Amino acid sequence: MAISVRGALLETVGQPVVIADLDLIEPRDGEVRVRMLASGVCHSDLHVRDGEWDRPTPIVMGHEGAGIVEVVGPGVTSPRVGELVSLSWLIPCGVCRSCRRGHVWACPDSPSYRHMLLDGTAPFTRPAAPGLGGEADEAGQPGRAGTPVRAYCAISTMAEAVVVPAAAAIPLPDGTDPGVAALIGCCVTTGVGAVLKTAAVPAGASVAVIGLGGVGLSCVMGAVIAEASRIVAIDRIETKLVAARAVGATDTILGGDDASTTIEALRDLTDGGPDFVFEAIGRTETAELGARAAFDVYPFVDGSRRILGSNYGFAEPAIDFPRYAAWTLDGRLPVERLIDRRIRLDDVEDAFAAMRRGEYTRQVIDFDG
Ligand SMILES: [Zn+2]
Ligand SMILES: [Zn+2]
Repeated sequence: MAISVRGALLETVGQPVVIADLDLIEPRDGEVRVRMLASGVCHSDLHVRDGEWDRPTPIVMGHEGAGIVEVVGPGVTSPRVGELVSLSWLIPCGVCRSCRRGHVWACPDSPSYRHMLLDGTAPFTRPAAPGLGGEADEAGQPGRAGTPVRAYCAISTMAEAVVVPAAAAIPLPDGTDPGVAALIGCCVTTGVGAVLKTAAVPAGASVAVIGLGGVGLSCVMGAVIAEASRIVAIDRIETKLVAARAVGATDTILGGDDASTTIEALRDLTDGGPDFVFEAIGRTETAELGARAAFDVYPFVDGSRRILGSNYGFAEPAIDFPRYAAWTLDGRLPVERLIDRRIRLDDVEDAFAAMRRGEYTRQVIDFDG
């Protein structure tokens, strides 16, 4: 039977997200229902909300969350009811060339990109509201009962409960904080994995990280684990530099409008230039800054340098999520220091506004709060 849940619904891009009552399907073969405990508010959510990224609507927001498995569908052996799980926002299709060679992070056919479950079903539908009921018409007019509502990345973590493929719900060790577990689902895995897996930074290397949001700070934490000798954190906002030092940056540079000043400072700190640069914003300007700081054309060839793309930190969620969680428990990965504001689901628009102002390191929705 479907249940009713509240979720952060984006009806139209550029318009405020509203907290709406939606019907959530019962888990079917290979699916599980997760009662959410925490969801991070990530910059990707803001890009979607503001229409900077083109995504279909209506859609329930959120792609970085954790919760407790409440119901498992037929055939599911893991996770089990009652387990704490972090949700993976990239659900591999399992049959494409990337999936077959084990590079699940590069899967181009993931249902996550269609924001639907594996069989193309949307997990949510609009409920039959008194006076507004009736079946959806052929055009799928919004406001009609039964109209499907997509789930962002097929996991829509900004809802009280979600139904996801069992493979997307990764059990974590007992004692993991739900907020930390949520962040392992996106920014931690993306940043730590970029350093340890994609770049495979060796001990003693010098590292620069440009852009100190959740992903950039996770790159800093990854560089600490890699035993980088120098970790230079760069951002245009002073408070982000403080946050970077708190998670292990050895040096910081306050970026300004003049990129050459930043590059010069970086070269001074790293004996002519860092061994690795992580660009963690995804803006052309900052990517160019990183490229120029480390790789002028001639030394690029002469020094056998490389530029690498890293989707989701080359994540193999079932292996990496519990590993990263264990590191948070033994103190090697201080993810809890990223969380500086806990909010309620109803405050998500306020969280987006704060994010636009560059405030807070990571805001987390606490569903028990
Ligand atoms: Zn994210
Ligand atoms: Zn695939």
